Amino acid sequence: QLKVIKKREPIYNSYITVMEDEAREQAKLVQERIDSGDLIDSPLAGVPVAIKDNICTKGIKTTAASKMLADFVPSYDATVIEKLKNAGAVLIGKANLDEFAMGGNTETSYFGITKNPWNVNHTPGGSSGGSAAAVAAYEAFVSLGSDTGGSIRQPAAYCGLVGFKPTYGTVSRYGLIPYAPSLDQIGPLSRNVADAVALLEVISGYDPKDSTSVKQERYLYSQALIDDIKGMRIGVPNLYLNKNLEADVHKNFLEAIKIFEDKGAHIEFFDMKELEYSPQVYYVIAYAEGCSNLSRYDGVKYGYRAQEYENLEDLYKKSRSQAFGYEVKRRIMLGTYVLSSDKYETYFNKARKIRRIISQAYEEAFKKYDILISPTSPNTAPLLNSNSDSSDILNTSVNLAGLTAACIPSGRDRRGLPIGLQIIGNKFDENKIIRAAYSFE
Ligand code: GLN
Repeated sequence: QLKVIKKREPIYNSYITVMEDEAREQAKLVQERIDSGDLIDSPLAGVPVAIKDNICTKGIKTTAASKMLADFVPSYDATVIEKLKNAGAVLIGKANLDEFAMGGNTETSYFGITKNPWNVNHTPGGSSGGSAAAVAAYEAFVSLGSDTGGSIRQPAAYCGLVGFKPTYGTVSRYGLIPYAPSLDQIGPLSRNVADAVALLEVISGYDPKDSTSVKQERYLYSQALIDDIKGMRIGVPNLYLNKNLEADVHKNFLEAIKIFEDKGAHIEFFDMKELEYSPQVYYVIAYAEGCSNLSRYDGVKYGYRAQEYENLEDLYKKSRSQAFGYEVKRRIMLGTYVLSSDKYETYFNKARKIRRIISQAYEEAFKKYDILISPTSPNTAPLLNSNSDSSDILNTSVNLAGLTAACIPSGRDRRGLPIGLQIIGNKFDENKIIRAAYSFE
């Protein structure tokens, strides 16, 4: 694995930090545990895993792709990391991302852009672009990403992978450097459904260290790996078909519907107009929470500190203006604006109300359907530096409503770039998604 990384990293830049020595050390320990009879039932024993670099790893730099945290070495492991280590996984590196996960193409990283292994002129998507590229380029077997408004699913689509966004509260966020805590979830990226399920079973479950964690000790997902969807009710929100889908994506989506029908599922198109403004609502909420969270980086407690300053105020100002990138600053300003006392009602509170309406619309939809499907993105991977990311419309409402959703590979466009299919499930209905995804695969 390390050899492959050496050869391919100069091309793709999937990683911010490759954990060469640590991985060797861990591999040795895992071997000892295997020899002593431990780990017999662990599908992750010895498996090289890439970790998005906004997830804290003890003793290993965790940067969130920001100059602000370029030298930050956490003194503790995130809960998901602890769980992976217990399961015998070998952490192989910290994957690139958009700065503080704010973006959709891994181009706002302080550590350079990542390229799509399917075609190096294209973006791998984002913000978990490094996690996706690492798996697609065989620089890792599987990886962890985080999804605030599509950041696992969209890069999975652009890189031809499975990406799973679990129900809010299912996977502990302890040790995840937050972007917008009411939306963030950690989840797996992999080459097939069974691998994602193996990872998901290990990282999910109650954690007292995360106050939003749901009190369910273990989730049994592998039992849903069944190739049978006869009678399953699948809804397709009309809105998603009208959203300027690229011709190849549109065609591929209709083919996917046909596959589900042939396997005995019932497909129904229906109106769900409530979703129309989900990106706008999402951005108001995400920027507001984002700017509150980033206020902790003041150059005093931790993070980057400006070299020269006149007083405390000046230290804050210089540290923050020197260490945050353009996109992060833009979001801090907009977040501050929507939270300001005279704009609070107009923007933030209104967004919260529409958020509830979106959740209720989903509740209604799931009375009629087991799962909903849509393309993961209206397009395949855009060219590098083209600044064109339009997948928010298809992805963000899932986080607003705290639901679960997965992206699975569903074909290629005429240029050979992968296309992804999104399957959305009600809260804690991961098993329905898994069944549908596994049958489709
Ligand atoms: N593209 C979205 C954003 O920029 C999603 C990011 C994410 O899920 N982390 O906010």
